[in-house]
Amino acid sequence: MRPEWAKARRIVVKIGSALLVDNEAGVLRAAWLDALCDDIAELRKRGKEVILVSSGAIALGRNLLGVPKGPLKLEDSQASAAVGQIHLAHAYESAFRARGLVAAQVLVTLGDTEERRRYLNARSTISTLLKRGAVPVVNENDTVATNEIRYGDNDRLAARVASMVSADCLVLLSDVDGLYTAPPGSGADAKRLDVVPEITAEIEAMAGDVGSELSR
Ligand code: GLU
Repeated sequence: MRPEWAKARRIVVKIGSALLVDNEAGVLRAAWLDALCDDIAELRKRGKEVILVSSGAIALGRNLLGVPKGPLKLEDSQASAAVGQIHLAHAYESAFRARGLVAAQVLVTLGDTEERRRYLNARSTISTLLKRGAVPVVNENDTVATNEIRYGDNDRLAARVASMVSADCLVLLSDVDGLYTAPPGSGADAKRLDVVPEITAEIEAMAGDVGSELSR
């Protein structure tokens, strides 16, 4: 186990859509989810509190609803999320139950972390769930989020959740194993940066466009 994980008591893990959903078929990658839940169960055995921030609702739902590939209109992403979220919640619930753990669904909107009263309320709900031994699975409430008032990006949501619950460690799981100086496989000489001690203009300039339709 990495030293950051070994030391941390409370860990937030963000799961990107590209890992959880097969882009071509638009279905859940069940074997990957099982392996993830094995790891979470192991962390729990070692006394860690784990909070998941999981994407995948829109990617799953659009397939189930038959929304054609390509960029989504707001109403289509809201409708897809409504269908996909229930599917996602069911998958987490049964995977955790099989490992003796209780999954809890927490859907938040931007206002829940911006407005003090709602922020305190969300924080206290998550802390009650952790105290009672559940594994909170957080996502944005995409069905009611509008373009102007949304996180849009679960990396951002995960960062907010991590600070809200005073997590010791935030892990972003994606299909790329770290920050590269250029998109890996793009032909450019892409080097992985193991440690970024400071966000500089040069680091910011490494941000590029999305790699797939599932990413933001
Ligand atoms: N909340 C979106 C979903 O569950 C994902 C946002 C993101 O990809 O960061 O589909």
